[in-house]
Amino acid sequence: MQIYKVGGAVRDRLLGKPVTDIDWVVVGATAEEMLAKGFRPVGADFPVFLHPKSGEEYALARTERKSGRGYGGFTFHASPEVTLEEDLIRRDLTINAMAEDDQQNLTDPYHGQRDLEDRFLRHVSPAFAEDPLRVLRVARFAARYAELGFKVAPETLELMRQLSESGELEALTAERSWKEISRALMESQPQVFIQVLRDCGALKVLMPEVDALFGVPQPEVHHPEIDSGIHTLSVLEQAALHKQPLTVRWACLLHDLGKGLTPEEEWPRHIAHEHKGLKLIKAVNERFKAPKDCQELALLVGQYHTHGHRALELKASTLLELLQSFDVYRRPQRFEEFIVACEMDARGRKGLEQRSYPQADYLRGAASAARGVAVQPLLEKGLKGPELGEALKRERLKALKAYKESASS
Ligand code: ATP
Ligand code: MG
Repeated sequence: MQIYKVGGAVRDRLLGKPVTDIDWVVVGATAEEMLAKGFRPVGADFPVFLHPKSGEEYALARTERKSGRGYGGFTFHASPEVTLEEDLIRRDLTINAMAEDDQQNLTDPYHGQRDLEDRFLRHVSPAFAEDPLRVLRVARFAARYAELGFKVAPETLELMRQLSESGELEALTAERSWKEISRALMESQPQVFIQVLRDCGALKVLMPEVDALFGVPQPEVHHPEIDSGIHTLSVLEQAALHKQPLTVRWACLLHDLGKGLTPEEEWPRHIAHEHKGLKLIKAVNERFKAPKDCQELALLVGQYHTHGHRALELKASTLLELLQSFDVYRRPQRFEEFIVACEMDARGRKGLEQRSYPQADYLRGAASAARGVAVQPLLEKGLKGPELGEALKRERLKALKAYKESASS
């Protein structure tokens, strides 16, 4: 049997990038031989094994044929006769379809190295269209390698467009889609992921609520970029520049969905878009079965981001309600994520990226004033139940009033 490094490990070494996980392909072996060498099978009918020591993935060289809709509809054929070239041709992109032996000799039948140099994400063969997940994968690689100048090849974008129109994207499971989306959002330029999906018509299928933001104007005084879709991309770009976690990036992507529902007569104003957007945010959350912390933060940021921007003008009682809505006493981290999401929203405006955002520290101060109210003295007075709750609220309101005064003096 011959063993080769494949996929990301070869690509990233040639790019001079750190290689994190290594995938291997094994040519000329049977499953029985792998088991005899101590490899552990990954699944019952899938020709992939884990190395007994390193735990890395070793796949038998295989060919694939599509036999139905979605990813379940694949039949694999792995046998010792399958060649390296046959295995490589079923892969998504030319830059992912190179192999390397233990002497670093490159096997590159589909010219991945040339595309690496020319900075193209190009599909290997028309079989690309057999797995709609590849549309998301290409967009994700575009987000990752945008900083190196990579672009999707025009003929690949065309194929992605056909796939998006064919209805195949609807066959993707929530789990597979979320895995790509969440990884793409954590790349260095997540806005490129959304942009590429939009360019090929996949955004309209996957997240029509986000797609609908493009072409919707906002008031130029607050939003020099005008377009709500462009604004959303910029907010996401800022979130990545500021190294925000996934929860914040997800909330940034969805915060303004309500603007897509505004009747044209009301443009460029978007009255109550925060509230109107909630059902859309909920729908997107559920469509991809986003993790609970992502879902929660997106809804809270959607509902309250304008409060964040107007923090310095809010009455003490409104501040208190805001803090209560976030349950800031038990969930301080979630409120901090809300604050930075608001800041990214403010920075995601053309020409205003560097403007300071005093609201952030003001909100932090308000949270710590309210959290500083001690429960013990109230317990000592013998208060409990709803009475205790009311007394706590009164004390917190007092603390916030004092905070507001000290902050404005
Ligand atoms: P990453 O750095 O994100 O791990 P990778 O290229 O190693 O990138 P993997 O998901 O680990 O990506 O997959 C390893 C290889 O398997 C890819 O390089 C590609 O050749 C192939 N591959 C993975 N998923 C698909 C797919 N859905 N369609 C076609 N080829 C795929
Ligand atoms: Mg990999």
